[in-house]
Amino acid sequence: MDMRVIDFHTHAFPDAVADRAMTHLTSETDQVTAFLDGRLSSLLASMDENGIEKSVICSIATKPGQFEPIFEWSKSIASDRIVPLASIHPFDPAGVEHVRKITDAGLAGIKMHPYYQDFDLDDERLDPLYAALQENGLLLTMHTGFDFAFEWIDRAGPRRIANVLAKFPDLKLITTHLGSWQQWDEVEELLIGKPIYMETSMSMQYLGLDQLKRMLLAHPSEYLLFGTDSPWADQKEQISTFRQLGLPEDLMSKILYKNAKKILS
Ligand SMILES: [Zn+2]
Repeated sequence: MDMRVIDFHTHAFPDAVADRAMTHLTSETDQVTAFLDGRLSSLLASMDENGIEKSVICSIATKPGQFEPIFEWSKSIASDRIVPLASIHPFDPAGVEHVRKITDAGLAGIKMHPYYQDFDLDDERLDPLYAALQENGLLLTMHTGFDFAFEWIDRAGPRRIANVLAKFPDLKLITTHLGSWQQWDEVEELLIGKPIYMETSMSMQYLGLDQLKRMLLAHPSEYLLFGTDSPWADQKEQISTFRQLGLPEDLMSKILYKNAKKILS
């Protein structure tokens, strides 16, 4: 069985900073292994090898000033194969203006990360930014749940996600790591079954396959996306594990490809 694949969660860096970025990110925790060197060419090679049609690249602006370089690089690498997300710092006074720029540039949306960007997901100071993203129909890929590199204090969990979506029901929020990394019981309680986008990265390795399968089967099928978090996971291994879950074929093709294709078109 051959199925088309879109990877909704990957990372890559400009060649000039890739080595430095990868060394820095791997030194923050000993719990992650890099399967690629962080360059775009390596990601594309991995995609070719594994029949992956497109990858969404998630960059993170850890300071307001990083908006511009990430935005410029994102525009320069956007292609049929590569869907780069811009990033806005939550407390950037120009955040709402940046949303307009991103929309005009034709980029799909932005990535945010409550730990690396130091905010609580439902902090009301972010409301104007969420409102602008919602109004412009941009995707907001949000790191959700705990993170390897930070203390496990809840800044991005299911309850906070529900609070944001209660205020911004049309926000195209993509929750990473199947709704919240390492908060999956709460995801099942509060989010599963609701129209909330979730991608699968970092779930197969940490959540038992039984609970993973149960969650995927209980969620609205058009709200599930396949993501790997490459280079922090191996695209080949992720695809093969996913295919072995024994999900119905039509659900598999929605998660691996069709849902992503629809959101990105
Ligand atoms: Zn990631």
